[in-house]
Amino acid sequence: LLELERATVRFGGRAVLDEVGLAVAEHEVVCVLGPSGSGKSTLLRAVAGLQPLDSGRVSLDGRDQAGVPAHRRELGLMFQDHQLFPQRDVGGNVAFGLRMRGMPKDGRGDRVRELLELVGLPGAANRAVAALSGGEQQRVALARALAPRPRLLMLDEPLGQLDRSLRERLVVELRELFGRLGTTVLAVTHDQGEAFALADRVVVMRDGRIAQSGTPLEVWQRPADAFVARFLGFDN
Ligand code: ATP
Ligand code: MG
Repeated sequence: LLELERATVRFGGRAVLDEVGLAVAEHEVVCVLGPSGSGKSTLLRAVAGLQPLDSGRVSLDGRDQAGVPAHRRELGLMFQDHQLFPQRDVGGNVAFGLRMRGMPKDGRGDRVRELLELVGLPGAANRAVAALSGGEQQRVALARALAPRPRLLMLDEPLGQLDRSLRERLVVELRELFGRLGTTVLAVTHDQGEAFALADRVVVMRDGRIAQSGTPLEVWQRPADAFVARFLGFDN
């Protein structure tokens, strides 16, 4: 479904993505782990068309995406900083992608309710976004990204601000939901436990390169190098 070939992004001469090669198969859930500044968000932005490549390519369904604008890539996106629409209420935010996809108005209300329930905010549709806590806003952003059921869903720290119990519950529900809908997912997280619970495959990044890619079990049992081992918390 998604393929990156030698994808490179430079900022001021430094390669923040350094010839990254990555293929994500249909229905696969891939979690990207790595230290702060290793290029995880840049990777998602490059796939989304929000960050042009300096060289290399991104293809979706075998089609080179160079020159395809972000809104034509039919991806579900959730960023680290949410970017909710402050002038719309919660329901309006979640319904946004449904309207973009041309879903008729009378079907939208049910989907919005279903998603708000999933993220643990039932009945919040008419609340003002500005009156929500950071974690609540994060859950609204997650509901908004999931609503149109995109083929490829990209999530940047989707559960970062939530407390442990909510995070654990959502990981289980998301895993079930992705399986049921067959959603292909590329998610970034700092949290190893989350990545290992959610992912079919874990990708560990270091300084703009992929240090290791494998199933959670492979990465856990056979870290590719000392960096990955240290990052996973061994030998410290
Ligand atoms: P975090 O876990 O903190 O979110 P990350 O792995 O997502 O980190 P990126 O946001 O991809 O990291 O950034 C990778 C590097 O690129 C960082 O050193 C960052 O400062 C730099 N960078 C990102 N965007 C820009 C930009 N627009 N201009 C210059 N440098 C940038
Ligand atoms: Mg980031």
